[in-house]
Amino acid sequence: METLIMNAELPEAMERAARLFSSGELVAFPTETVYGLGANALDRKAVLSIFAAKGRPADNPLIVHIWNRSQMTGLCEIPKDAEKLMDAFWPGPLTMLFPRTEKVPDEVTAGLPTVAIRMPSLPCAHKMLQVCGLPIAAPSANRSGRPSPTTAAHVMEDMAGRIPLILDGGPCQVGLESTVLDLTRGDPTILRPGGVTKEMIQEVLGRDVEVAGSVLRPLKPDEKALSPGMRYKHYAPTGTVTLVEGEGEAVHRVMREQCTSDRLAGRKSCVLCFTEHLDLFPDCDPHDIGSREDDREVAHRLFDVLRRLDQEGMETIYSEVVPAEGVGLAVMNRLGRAAGFRTLKAE
Ligand code: AMP
Ligand code: MG
Repeated sequence: METLIMNAELPEAMERAARLFSSGELVAFPTETVYGLGANALDRKAVLSIFAAKGRPADNPLIVHIWNRSQMTGLCEIPKDAEKLMDAFWPGPLTMLFPRTEKVPDEVTAGLPTVAIRMPSLPCAHKMLQVCGLPIAAPSANRSGRPSPTTAAHVMEDMAGRIPLILDGGPCQVGLESTVLDLTRGDPTILRPGGVTKEMIQEVLGRDVEVAGSVLRPLKPDEKALSPGMRYKHYAPTGTVTLVEGEGEAVHRVMREQCTSDRLAGRKSCVLCFTEHLDLFPDCDPHDIGSREDDREVAHRLFDVLRRLDQEGMETIYSEVVPAEGVGLAVMNRLGRAAGFRTLKAE
């Protein structure tokens, strides 16, 4: 199959996407978070072909994308707290779980009693959803296990020949997947942190929000994943990523020592560091993850840097860390998973 790339802003592109969706085909499209691989959420066969194109395990459910709340009628119930959060953060990078009806195919929810729904804010995504008029089930448009795509070129790397159309809307602004929030049992719980932070949600709800334990550590062998996606290896470059924690100077020294000794042993090795620290690693091929003063910039760049490591054939990678607060929680969740939570304490 030939994969066409079209400018996402063009009306012809939106119309072509709408036709493909209606006939059960897949289309990759940009959102403010990452690129999604979409299909008509009400067409079981089309939804199954998402899993095939990505190589995604069938028990990892998909997020349904809408442009208008009226599309939720008949698909799910809406808890009261969800109304407040929709008013505050939709359209935007917040996905919520809703108790679902029979109308939502099991293929979308992996048989779970809830359906994950979000309203993207990127204008061309919003418009595309409006033109096609269908709820669109869409996971990130990468092959399973690879970093999520934040440019149309990333999607092409993973999906060329597998899907008929990629809409190109340029680089994604947030650069990390949406926050996934469960309001359907007990205290509101963040299953996956993202651009809408715990602090922002607490402020709107006026009460505490929990964060699932597995956000910053691996699942324990007997632990049930609240969000099935947490079970899988994710965001992982081929090389071995190690996070280096500790006080400033010691962190930089350990990163230099590790990287240098790997290079002397003949391994291709580099460091990931903040813009402010690039000069501290002249012999360690420093990769800029953005300013330490700006979590959102780090989020925006992270997946592109992770993908580059594979293109460069990096075998070992040593990375600085950010405080796990605000958007930093989402950055540390993705970096942690890229590293398989492998951490070195610098003293
Ligand atoms: P992706 O679309 O690739 O960004 O992944 C969607 C994420 O949302 C995965 O981590 C899923 O496990 C999670 N998710 C989707 N639907 C549900 C649901 N009904 N319950 C819990 N997690 C969900
Ligand atoms: Mg994904």
